[in-house]
Amino acid sequence: MKSLMQPHFNRTVPCPLCNRPCTNPKLRDTLFFPEEIDPDKRVRRYQWVSTVCRTVHPPHYYFWHCPRCGYTDESSTFLSPPRTPSRFRWVLPHQGRDRTFDFLADFVFDRERDFDVALGLNYLAIHVQELLEPDSRDSGKLGRFYLRLAWAYRELDEDLSKIETPEFVQALTRFWPNAAVSEHEAIAQTIHYLETGYYHLSSYDSPLCEIDLFLLLGYLHARIGDRGPALREASRAMGRALELRTSLYQLLRFNEVDGGERFALEAKIRKAQSMIERVVDFKDSLKEASENAIPHAPPLVPSLA
Ligand SMILES: [Zn+2]
Repeated sequence: MKSLMQPHFNRTVPCPLCNRPCTNPKLRDTLFFPEEIDPDKRVRRYQWVSTVCRTVHPPHYYFWHCPRCGYTDESSTFLSPPRTPSRFRWVLPHQGRDRTFDFLADFVFDRERDFDVALGLNYLAIHVQELLEPDSRDSGKLGRFYLRLAWAYRELDEDLSKIETPEFVQALTRFWPNAAVSEHEAIAQTIHYLETGYYHLSSYDSPLCEIDLFLLLGYLHARIGDRGPALREASRAMGRALELRTSLYQLLRFNEVDGGERFALEAKIRKAQSMIERVVDFKDSLKEASENAIPHAPPLVPSLA
């Protein structure tokens, strides 16, 4: 029988921290696409386009790792390291003195990617970033990493064959007592870092990015049952989306725009309109959940509408 094709291949690049070659599995991105997506952007189900390929769970391959120095980050950072000298140089002499770092690096060392190893890499990536002082941290990146951790715990809750928290997580909390060990705790950290990033990062300069962030924060608050902050974020998103649509209409009405510009403006107006519709749907789902609420109900999960 013909063996199935591997969905990934080994890619060797210099480690962004120690500069020594390190090899990680690189997924062939054209073999799958997202089929179902949760409101907070987690892909619930993937569709594989090839029938001659072994299927794997793509999120397990998101983080890359250097087995020599333990540095762990998004694959994109390994493939296109920042031009500026790494802010993490001092992590290297840290090895052997940081029990959390050593525990996690030992746990993931030379192992195939499965749920536990992917979770270990997620924790290690967070821990490396949090070795920096709070003011020097990349809040946007930590927001993404904690969101991925939240998704992993959601996956654990949804998969009845894995109802127990992995054993290594219990051991990890001996060294890292306030580690996030549930979807709720990971979402609380995600919200903290996304909000910090919003006030410090220029990446939210575009109104569409801002609206997207407010909606994401709204969904996350709703997910952990905080209806008040969820409504507040929905109102922020709505206010910004209406403001954007009005300013685009004014540009269209009161300026002489040629065919190409008009087309681009109309596309932006359609995008703003679709954002407004998303906010309305989100507000409706909050209202519906509140009307159907029963004492001690599980946290609200907004619909995918
Ligand atoms: Zn390294």
